[in-house]
Amino acid sequence: MSGIIGVFSKDNQKVSKYIYYGLYALQHRGQASAGISINNNGFIDYEKNLGLVGDVFTSEVINRLIGNIAIGQVRYASHSEKRSKINSEPLVVGYKNGALSICMDGALANYEELRGKLEENGHLFQTDLAGEVIASLIAKYHKDSLIDAIKKALTEVNGSYSLIIMTKDSLIAARDPHGIRPLSIGKVGDDFIFSSETCAIECIGGEFTRDCNPGEIAIIDSDGIRSEMIQSKKRALCIFELVYLARPDSYIDKRYVYTSRFNAGEILYTECPIKADIVIGAPDSGTVAAIGYAKKSQIPYTEGIIKNRYIGRTFIEPTQDIREEGVRIKLNPLTSNIKGKDLILVDDSIVRGTTIKRTVEMLRNAGAKSVHVRIASPPVKHSCFLGVDTPNEENLIANYMTVEEIRKAINADSLYFISLEGLVEASGGNNGFCKGCFNGEYPVKRLKEE
Ligand code: SF4
Repeated sequence: MSGIIGVFSKDNQKVSKYIYYGLYALQHRGQASAGISINNNGFIDYEKNLGLVGDVFTSEVINRLIGNIAIGQVRYASHSEKRSKINSEPLVVGYKNGALSICMDGALANYEELRGKLEENGHLFQTDLAGEVIASLIAKYHKDSLIDAIKKALTEVNGSYSLIIMTKDSLIAARDPHGIRPLSIGKVGDDFIFSSETCAIECIGGEFTRDCNPGEIAIIDSDGIRSEMIQSKKRALCIFELVYLARPDSYIDKRYVYTSRFNAGEILYTECPIKADIVIGAPDSGTVAAIGYAKKSQIPYTEGIIKNRYIGRTFIEPTQDIREEGVRIKLNPLTSNIKGKDLILVDDSIVRGTTIKRTVEMLRNAGAKSVHVRIASPPVKHSCFLGVDTPNEENLIANYMTVEEIRKAINADSLYFISLEGLVEASGGNNGFCKGCFNGEYPVKRLKEE
């Protein structure tokens, strides 16, 4: 998963500041690396490195990055690629028709196959990035029209992608035909913005205009914005965006993320009511569902766990040791609110089971009388090959344990997962979701077992 953003201005030479603040708003989508590339009269300058936005960019760097078109990315390294500077984006490539820069959120199911074919034909690759395969295909097909080359390249790729491409005089966004990963369009003054999430548009003082449609290529240049279609297929927005990945203040494909999570909390109570003294949320992504649960159940919502906000997301850390260490230093119980209480703990999902187990243990050690766990998504039984780095299936606790076995393993008094139908209803009804990690049915064919 990555967060991407691009800004096009006719005359503002300081768009790097927009990208910088936008990347801060998208930091939750990736913490392994951050980068910005910028066009200055046809010359592309860039800065990227491993680390958080605040680590990678100093004010000197941002002041150095001058230009009127820029793109930026925060990303994490998937478990199959090396975590190295070279694998950070945006990618900047030169080819016979000039230079372009590209950043991508998503993953290609036919990456190995496409890369193998290109290598057989003499293409050299410097990174493990799917964006480099797309850039190579664009270079291969670019004769007269860049847009035609992008279209041709994208009809060969199969998977999930939201892309932003910068050329010397344009900014181009594309979203895969199913619209699996989000991509929004906005404006700040007269300048145009593409962004993974609307929160980044708002945070730089811009206004959301619309979602980039599945299968759409949106092109911004000095004439304004226009769009072309590659192809569109059955909509399949990643439902996990609404459960966990996106920020609650974002708006994706006509759905407020906050509302979806709140609804999921209400439906959790309706599907499996229980009496208790308080409802607490596992911070941060369980919080909104916990508030919804409390509202529906009329059981008071209370803060029960304090989170150290400077630790990254635990399930995307690279090794078990680091992950477990991360859980321990990340969460601390609010003993005064918990002691002697029957409590309901609401969390967004259970992936490996590492975090929830330690959280329940922590609440018991802080004196909770009973801990009833409610999960605002169904059991995650399948891994994702469409851009979210969930673990291999053998490491997903719901893949090898029943709900009752999980309850015992995490030492909860009771455990309930929202039904898939309930989650879809909470997310605004079934008008097109990928639910692959819950039901094993993906919008794109998986080409190789991971
Ligand atoms: S498999 Fe799950 S995480 Fe992956 S795109 Fe589909 S819903 Fe999202």
